[in-house]
Parts: sequence; structure tokens; C-alpha cells
Amino acid sequence: MPRNIYIIFGPPGSGKGTQAEMISEKFKIPTISVGNLLRHEEEGKSKLAKQLRKILSAGKLVKEKTVDHILSARLKKKDVKKGFVLDGYPRNVSQFHHLFKEINKKKDDKIIFIFIKTSDKEIKERLGKRRACECGETYHLKFKKPKKAGRCDACGKKLYIREDDKPEIIKNRIKLYHESTQPIIALAKKTGHEIIVDGDKDIKEVSKEMFKKIKEISSPLRKGRSGGV
Ligand code: AMP
Repeated sequence: MPRNIYIIFGPPGSGKGTQAEMISEKFKIPTISVGNLLRHEEEGKSKLAKQLRKILSAGKLVKEKTVDHILSARLKKKDVKKGFVLDGYPRNVSQFHHLFKEINKKKDDKIIFIFIKTSDKEIKERLGKRRACECGETYHLKFKKPKKAGRCDACGKKLYIREDDKPEIIKNRIKLYHESTQPIIALAKKTGHEIIVDGDKDIKEVSKEMFKKIKEISSPLRKGRSGGV
């Protein structure tokens, strides 16, 4: 069965997680958020959990071997057979190659890279209003308000500000995003379809632009690139 694999990029606060969920819902395919998998992993008392807590709260990148392993394990599950949405991976060239080794792209598979281009000013403004819940749900006090202030709609638990959403850490994460994504853009162009959307707009407008461009790619009249890596 040919797969559509959506790989979504955007700086922290670009709304990439939300857009990934929208694709997932529309096309009935799972989202794989490597950030969420790592946050789940950091909960325990193991040595790895302790290391992850330190790295994630500093906004640094987790070691290659660890993330690659976590991704590979997730891609072995059955639910990815019809395709999936990937959020937060690859974050550098080495991860890019690891991913394509795991995907083992077939001729009819479609790889769609989505870049949510967002200005640094907009990101800083947004992240201060981001809230998270330990169940994995995320909210935004302007764009995706919880029904009851400070509480998760899904489980009712108290919402919190992620350590890595604090101002100094945000600055580092934006810098790291730009540095690490730049070389991936060139590879993406050679490997699949590229979609660029304006992430400074609100969630609905971003998704409208995104789905319009996805539809254009899917049109049988359009001859897309389908080369391998
Ligand atoms: P995110 O939810 O995508 O913003 O990711 C949260 C944090 O998880 C990042 O700041 C990194 O510390 C870590 N992380 C997520 N994805 C990766 C990755 N592909 N490689 C290394 N670290 C990652």
C-alpha cells in the first residue's frame, strides 16, 4: 500500500504540533511527535529519564543514538503502514538519513515536507502563552484555550509552562532550529514534495493554506518529484 508521509518542520511555537494533528485527523494516519515520545520517556526514574530531563529542560538536542532508537521503535508499529505525520524529526542531516533508511521509500510512496515559516518575533510572542498537560495535550491561551482556565480539557489536570518555553531557552531553541534545519531544506527539495506555509497567520489560515497545497500535490495532473535519497 503506497504511503503518504508528511514531515512537518517549524520553529518552536510555529504551531507545527497542531497542524500535524490536523493532518492526522483528516487522513486518518497517526502523528509521531518525537518531542512527545521523549517527554514520555523522561518521566521515569531510570538513568535515561534523568538525562533526558536535563537535556529537554535546557532546550538542547537529545543524543542521536537515543532519538534514532526511539523513532525506529515507533516506526515498527503497525499503525504506520498507511502513512504517518512526523513532527520534530529529522532535526539534522544525520537524522534525515536515518529516517530514510527506516522508511525504505517505495516508488509510489509520497513524501511531503511541510515548512511552517514563522518569524522570530511571532514565536517569542506566542510561546509565553503556551501551556501543557502531563497527559500530552497542549494549549495556547490565545489560539487554543482550555475550556476551564488552567485545566486540561481531556483529563482535568492542572496545566503548566514547559521548562523549555522559558525566554532564555526559547532563544536557544530558535537559534538551534535555524542552524539545524537549513541543510535539511536542500535535501528535502531533492527527496520529495515541498510545501511552505506562512506560520505567522492564525491556525485556521495556516491549515487552509497547507491543505490547499497538499491537494495540489495530490492532483493527478501534477507531476511531482518522487526520487529517493
Ligand atoms: P519539540 O516538542 O519538538 O519542540 O521537542 C522538545 C524537545 O525534545 C527538543 O527541544 C529537544 O530537546 C528534544 N527533541 C525533540 N526531537 C528531537 C530530535 N529529533 N533530536 C534531538 N532532540 C529532539
